[in-house]
Amino acid sequence: MSNKAVLVINCGSSSLKFSLIDPISGEVIVSGVGERLLSKQAFIKIAFQGNKENTPLAVPFDHQVAVNFIVEFLHQHNLVECLFAVGHRLVHGGEEYSTPTLIDDVVKYSIEKLAKLAPLHNPVNLIGVNAAEKAFSDLPQVAVFDTAFHQTMPAKAYIYGLPYNLYEEHGIRRYGFHGTSHYFVAKQAAKLLEKPFSQTSVITAHLGNGCSITAIDNGKSVDTSMGLTPLEGVVMGTRSGDLDPGIIFHLIEQLNYTPEQVSNLLNKDSGLLGISQMSNDCRTIEEAIINDQDERANLTMDIFCYRISKTIASYMASLSHFDGLVFTGGIGENSDLVRTRIANSLHLLNIRLDEAKNTDVRFGKSGLISTPNSQHCWVIPTNEEQVIAEQTYQLISGEK
Ligand code: AMP
Repeated sequence: MSNKAVLVINCGSSSLKFSLIDPISGEVIVSGVGERLLSKQAFIKIAFQGNKENTPLAVPFDHQVAVNFIVEFLHQHNLVECLFAVGHRLVHGGEEYSTPTLIDDVVKYSIEKLAKLAPLHNPVNLIGVNAAEKAFSDLPQVAVFDTAFHQTMPAKAYIYGLPYNLYEEHGIRRYGFHGTSHYFVAKQAAKLLEKPFSQTSVITAHLGNGCSITAIDNGKSVDTSMGLTPLEGVVMGTRSGDLDPGIIFHLIEQLNYTPEQVSNLLNKDSGLLGISQMSNDCRTIEEAIINDQDERANLTMDIFCYRISKTIASYMASLSHFDGLVFTGGIGENSDLVRTRIANSLHLLNIRLDEAKNTDVRFGKSGLISTPNSQHCWVIPTNEEQVIAEQTYQLISGEK
């Protein structure tokens, strides 16, 4: 292990994920997650040297307590000496941030201002930054933005069909999310193709609880399905994805929904959960299809997969050439059923899966799942933490 490990922090409203990573070898030295923060049930789960341990957190059960626990743990195991920098996942970098950025007061202020575009994410991400700054005052802190990779999109892909002043004066445009994941798996695909990334054109499908599809042309994001917020695009675990905006007025004017109720409906009660009325978890839906031949579950899965196929097909308009399709995220990496249904609607793009290979690639495995005459189609497990560690290290050390 080198003495240049990066502590990667991904702070959510009630959770704080972390991993200590050697950015050169990619080795994860220790990882864990503080969960149920801000409640009396707060605890931290740590995986280190093959052991997993859960420990309850002390009053006031907050993010700072979780970070202090991590510091203590690193001290106890003589890991503090190898710390080189802290890398933070930041959700929204607006148009200001298209590369990893050293965090100072000015950057923190602009992340705070960008919270109007990501009220659910940026403020909680900043809690993690502040807690880490307090605990590691002598270490550089770096922000790696989820939106950054998509800053290469052309205006025709990011401007909405709205009065232009809403973009100019209020920044209302497509930003896209999951950028670190799309970038990582597309780069892996380039390696598998033995092509320079700058000549690789793929479509990446990040399918997890949140889902987004990205068109990457010659190494650059040129379109992506999430928009101003992560609500746009394909159907997700609990988010509706695209719908007729007229539905929102119908809900408010005819069914007396408040704006907050509409927001909850579209963000938390829709998607796989809303259609199936069963679960937001793809595994539960699959079980209901396979074990019970449940019709609603089957319809839910058809809607989910068809919308993804349609988005993939539409991105043929964005690419100069097409090297292949990548599946990633919890669903993309594990569900052969979802991959089959998506691919079945894409025969006209010459996407055909080898069903034996497709069934075999699950549980963190990586591989080509298409037939020899098909366009390439891979499953590539994502690793956002690795990208954050690498980019943090490169920014601070100046090494590439
Ligand atoms: P993520 O947000 O990337 O962590 O993905 C979480 C989602 O992946 C879960 O909600 C499940 O729907 C899905 N998932 C995880 N494991 C499996 C599996 N073995 N089969 C199908 N879906 C899975």
